[in-house]
Amino acid sequence: MLEAVTAAILKSIQVTPFAVPSACAIRLPLPHIGSVNAWLLRGEPLTLLDTGPASAEALEALRTGVRAEGSRLEDIELVLGTHHHLDHVGLAPAVREASGARIALLGEAADYVAHGREQIERDRAYSHRLMEAHGVPRVVIDDNESFWDFLRANSSTFAPDTRLADGDTIQAGGRELTVLARPGHSRSDTLFVDHAAGEAFVGDHLLAGISSNTEIAPVGEAEGERPRPRTEYLRNLERTARMPLTTLYTGHGRPVKAHRALVDVRLAEHRTRAARVAGALLHRPETAYGIAKRLWPERTVREQPLLVVWEVLGHLELLVSAGVAREAVEADGGERRFALTSRTDPREGRPRARLG
Ligand SMILES: [Zn+2]
Repeated sequence: MLEAVTAAILKSIQVTPFAVPSACAIRLPLPHIGSVNAWLLRGEPLTLLDTGPASAEALEALRTGVRAEGSRLEDIELVLGTHHHLDHVGLAPAVREASGARIALLGEAADYVAHGREQIERDRAYSHRLMEAHGVPRVVIDDNESFWDFLRANSSTFAPDTRLADGDTIQAGGRELTVLARPGHSRSDTLFVDHAAGEAFVGDHLLAGISSNTEIAPVGEAEGERPRPRTEYLRNLERTARMPLTTLYTGHGRPVKAHRALVDVRLAEHRTRAARVAGALLHRPETAYGIAKRLWPERTVREQPLLVVWEVLGHLELLVSAGVAREAVEADGGERRFALTSRTDPREGRPRARLG
């Protein structure tokens, strides 16, 4: 009881009635995940950073949330997006329609949303091929078509007003924000950094509660290369860790305070998980989906085949580049299996590799 009273007193003295935070999270409903944060940045120009998915429910929640912060959706002057995913920019054109706001996105995100529907179909076809090549049974792929229906239903196709480039600065919500391209979670990940305040808006680049996934997109497909987003992601995460920041405002959940420590935790998790993936190859070569079946409950791999394939391939990417595993394609363009390299085999001839 005494503790509760003390906590209440402490809380009451921490909240000063004059200190209005200049960045307010508006939590919007998001099926499957729970919620996504749109950030209202008070000041000139009044800015909404990320918007929520293109659903009537999210639009209503956004209207209510902006009103609760003392503004109106119609007052928004600038919309920024941290990446092209539907839960971050799906409502951008609806906000522009209501308010006349300008939409500014990194070039990679702008290119994606300008052809949103076509891009989703391209991603879908590529993901089917990716899953098939990595051992996901056809029936499991077919059973998860609703995932793509959801994407189509909650996305928008629109042309942004301003294309941003890595290193640009933009005035938003009384701040000067530096635009940094930090792909990995998606091909268009953007950090908006307020150097003066030591704060950054980071979308899904680093999340407090869960480790970010890394999508495998049809980029470089024409060259026959599978992208290596996990390598790029970890490199970019380490660049972020070196930045002198006190608060990272994220796309889901609460802000990140001690970002360096959190990046260290994420890197340590990668070493552990990569070791588990390697462990799944101890007895015989395996497909990415076969490995996933050993690591996650049956229901998870059956209902989220693309996510688990991305996750396992992300770790295999690290294992292959460390010389621990190798990839073999079965004859006639069939499934891809991964095997451990034999470090004692003179034909391999690689030095003992270190992970991470
Ligand atoms: Zn995302």
